[in-house]
Amino acid sequence: MNTVHSLPSYLDPNHLGPWGIYLQQVDRVTPYLGHLARWVETLKRPKRAMIVDVPIELDNGTVAHFEGYRVQHNLSRGPGKGGVRFHQDVTLSEVMALSAWMSVKNAAVNLPYGGAKGGIRVDPKTLSKGELERLTRRYTSEIGVIIGPSKDIPAPDMNTNEQVMAWMMDTYSMNVGATATGVVTGKPIALGGSLGRREATGRGVFTVAQEAAQRIQLELKGSRVAVQGLGNVGGVAAQLFAQAGCRVVAVQDHAGTVFNEAGLNIDALLAHVSTHGSVKGFAPAQTLGNDQFWSVPCDILVPAALEQQITVDNAGQIQARLVIEGANGPTTPQADDILAERGILVVPDVIANAGGVTVSYFEWVQDFSSFFWSEDEINARLVRLMREAFAAVWQTAEQHKVSLRTATFIIACTRILQARELRGLYP
Ligand code: NAD
Repeated sequence: MNTVHSLPSYLDPNHLGPWGIYLQQVDRVTPYLGHLARWVETLKRPKRAMIVDVPIELDNGTVAHFEGYRVQHNLSRGPGKGGVRFHQDVTLSEVMALSAWMSVKNAAVNLPYGGAKGGIRVDPKTLSKGELERLTRRYTSEIGVIIGPSKDIPAPDMNTNEQVMAWMMDTYSMNVGATATGVVTGKPIALGGSLGRREATGRGVFTVAQEAAQRIQLELKGSRVAVQGLGNVGGVAAQLFAQAGCRVVAVQDHAGTVFNEAGLNIDALLAHVSTHGSVKGFAPAQTLGNDQFWSVPCDILVPAALEQQITVDNAGQIQARLVIEGANGPTTPQADDILAERGILVVPDVIANAGGVTVSYFEWVQDFSSFFWSEDEINARLVRLMREAFAAVWQTAEQHKVSLRTATFIIACTRILQARELRGLYP
């Protein structure tokens, strides 16, 4: 008999926020876990959560303190894996949820990893490059006792990039006295990074869109696509949709929304964004109000910007037949239910944007073997893994008559808890 004691407040499912949403998702999947449900409490608590003080000397000579986190949600299937986010609103509860979603994502694609995530509560735009480097290095040293190539492997997330990964790799390597390229992924190619990593998430989004479209008899060629966010994920996905003969009719970013019924020229739009910083002012295109984006007539909608974008306020207006979640957590649970009632198929984040961590896994494998693969080989392996994972999710959804989100959770949580059960409790 599994005894459940009352939960500490930060684990309270009634507390709104990403961790509460994650707990609801676990509750939804529990009836499908069979005898493994005995272990489900494992998923509702992070294995390990570290809070660190990150003091740095600012350029003006004063000392500033920032709060940093590294959460290892589950390590049953392998080392922790998940990004590091620098943002002024980062909280422990958010990092806990993101680390749990990494456990699910990694298990859904069958990567030999557990789930982890990290962050620093800081607005990096307020820091000089030198301050950012000192912050990154001190944070890496502070979490150094729990990360490592076979323990927990960070990667970039919001506001962290190749340069930040290079500093993390160097700091860890200096502390252990040996160059350890495999301690982080998303590194520059010159430091053991992988070809194809930058495009991997967008390529994965496109691959699952192809698979889902085929299953609902939606002809991709000529279909209309709307993309929110034209960054790393949305930009690459939009290019691949356009190359496949889709019409990318609407794109929204932080500064505006552009629309062209005949299809936007994505290469020209990306060039416009790199010169002007956003899609605003792009021609030939019509400018739409931000709310109008959600009701644009389209077949495929790709939210690839922020969390909680599809809500009760706009889920009723969405015209698409398919929603492919490029971003993490773009759909609230209530909006998810509305989309399901309206017969709109949602391919959830935990499978749709898993392409990034999949090529991160390839990077880690290449670092371990010090043997690097060609870009064609990487892309072919990525597409194969994504197709296999999607097929398993589709089959599970049909078998249990559940959403693709619940089906992904069934597969992932079963894998995690099977590992948990086989390992047993120690001591
Ligand atoms: P990015 O910073 O490269 O791009 C973000 C895009 O979103 C930009 O075009 C920006 O203008 C737009 N945006 C920002 N605020 C907006 C707003 N209020 N309204 C509309 N658009 C807005 O980020 P990214 O790496 O493409 O990540 C996007 C999402 O995908 C995030 O949720 C991230 O966690 C998730 N994700 C990224 C990866 C990856 O490999 N990059 C992997 C998995 C998941």
